[in-house]
Amino acid sequence: LVSAVNLAKQFHGRKVLDGVDFDVAAGEVSVIIGKSGSGKSTLLRVIAGLEDPEEGDVTIDGVLVRSGGARTADWNHGAAKVGMVFQSYNLWPHMNVLDNLILAPRKILGLSAGEAEARAEKALAEVGMAEHIRSRSTQLSGGERQRVAIARALMMRPQVLLCDEITSALDPPVAAEVLGVLARLKQEEGLAVVLVTHDMAFASKAADRVIFFSNGRIAVDATPDEAFHHCENAELKAFVDAVR
Ligand code: ATP
Ligand code: MG
Repeated sequence: LVSAVNLAKQFHGRKVLDGVDFDVAAGEVSVIIGKSGSGKSTLLRVIAGLEDPEEGDVTIDGVLVRSGGARTADWNHGAAKVGMVFQSYNLWPHMNVLDNLILAPRKILGLSAGEAEARAEKALAEVGMAEHIRSRSTQLSGGERQRVAIARALMMRPQVLLCDEITSALDPPVAAEVLGVLARLKQEEGLAVVLVTHDMAFASKAADRVIFFSNGRIAVDATPDEAFHHCENAELKAFVDAVR
């Protein structure tokens, strides 16, 4: 579904992405782990188009959207299939949940108010937040806001959802609930999920793949069982011990 080849990105002369090859298959949950500063967020931001790399080709659903680092003429076609959710949910505080959800699809897709609202009802139902459609985002708990942020990303009907530490600010049971939503979206909607997280329990239980990032490179790409129990990579072992 997504195929990135040889992504390279520097900040101040430091290689943050150092020739990264990264693929996402349809309906697959990939968990990315790694030390702070290793380049995890940068990878997601480059795939989502929030950051331009110096090098690299990206193909999304068969469409080449980036070549030699630069966006191609087909960028918009592929980018629409990728959604992203952040740790700080970035909901507009002065709007209710519905208005937060319909803003982008009305502007970008040109949906009518009725079409957008119907889509919002479905997206909120998928994250278990249907009854909060008229709530103000400031009245919601952290876990509820994060579920609304997922629903907002779903409004654009992405095939892959990139999630950057979306549960880091939440208590473990609330985090588990939010991650449960992602697992269900994979099961029921066939959504591919790429998740940067420190939650090793979720990684072991729900991930199809664990990717360990180190110094701008993918050091390990394996099943959770291989990554956590049979991996010879000393750096990954030390990392897993440290966060457990
Ligand atoms: P964390 O676990 O702390 O979120 P990360 O693996 O997500 O870390 P990145 O955010 O990708 O790491 O950052 C990788 C490196 O690139 C860091 O050293 C960071 O300071 C640097 N960096 C990221 N974005 C920028 C930017 N816009 N300008 C300058 N340096 C940046
Ligand atoms: Mg990060």
